[in-house]
Amino acid sequence: NIHPSVPQIRQLDEAASNRIAAGEVVERPASAIKELVENALDADARRVEITIADGGKTLLRVSDDGHGIPADQLPLALARHATSKIDGTDLLAITSFGFRGEALASMGAVGRLSLRSRPAGAEAAEITVTAGRIGPVRPAALSRGTVVELRDLFAATPARLKFLRTDRAEAQAIADTVRRLALAAPDAGFTLRDVSGGGEGRVVFRADPDEGAEARVARVLGRAFVDTALRVEAERDGLRLTGFAALPTEARGAAVAQHFMVNGRPVRDRLLLGALKAAYADVLAPGRHPACVLWLDLDPVRVDVNVHPAKAEVRFREAGDVRGLVVGALRHALAGAGHRGSGSLSM
Ligand code: ADP
Ligand code: MG
Repeated sequence: NIHPSVPQIRQLDEAASNRIAAGEVVERPASAIKELVENALDADARRVEITIADGGKTLLRVSDDGHGIPADQLPLALARHATSKIDGTDLLAITSFGFRGEALASMGAVGRLSLRSRPAGAEAAEITVTAGRIGPVRPAALSRGTVVELRDLFAATPARLKFLRTDRAEAQAIADTVRRLALAAPDAGFTLRDVSGGGEGRVVFRADPDEGAEARVARVLGRAFVDTALRVEAERDGLRLTGFAALPTEARGAAVAQHFMVNGRPVRDRLLLGALKAAYADVLAPGRHPACVLWLDLDPVRVDVNVHPAKAEVRFREAGDVRGLVVGALRHALAGAGHRGSGSLSM
């Protein structure tokens, strides 16, 4: 080094960059479950089975009956920035949950990951990765689909492990994640089983495939919600909003379930939450919040999902139109049920 006082720039190796990316993608067991279930849904799975132990800290397993991964592509599935979902030329027409090709690479960097798969008409094979070290592809036993198992998440990074909450709190976060995804994919079936302490374990959540959107919403938010909720249905200029929103009289305090799906993707979006708030502003007591399940569908080129690694945020190209549709649809539904605001039609 001829400039001893100047720090040297180094290219990080793949294992180190995966560990860094993992900090954003896999924050806690629930975020790993989100990525794994999304992968199953992207593979057109009809049934998704999730097994956890100890709040997901020791075991997370997601099995699906989707299209699987050919044996020769298993190493690639674990590589960073390797994906079958986009070709990289058009980031503005994404219809899959995944597209960044980081989830499996990240999980392999922060835990013991095994990936077993069997596409139709092929043999089953398995690959494992421990703390970034990828093993060989081996023959395995599996009747169909894909099984991904992540064990001992953050065991090699005690600092990260320390940031996790109690097993109970982490298990709760996983259950919330599974419920959210069950709303996003009402045609798929889900089972969440907790096997802490061994044995068959306990079924925490179960939803049958093809039970229909209304039954699915009832399963997640309760029959009482569906029986009393307003039906929301609106379409304008290629934007379509459907779903359920609570009557003002059924609104609750904080921590109420407000679910928004944009093209089937569960999102936490400020614009949509703001529109919900605006629509109810005149008919709700202060501190009350309406539960809702709302699906917004639009041409994927009109919404950018590549905003955040966890893909929970989106950016609308015509934000004003989206807000207008949501506020208008909710106000219309509220008025139909006899809840009319003071008339200030501020949007
Ligand atoms: P992404 O989902 O962004 O493509 P991932 O790291 O989550 O990135 O997965 C990498 C690739 O592995 C996917 O693009 C897909 O081809 C394959 N894959 C992962 N999980 C599954 C699964 N459950 N079924 C079929 N293929 C899968
Ligand atoms: Mg993925």
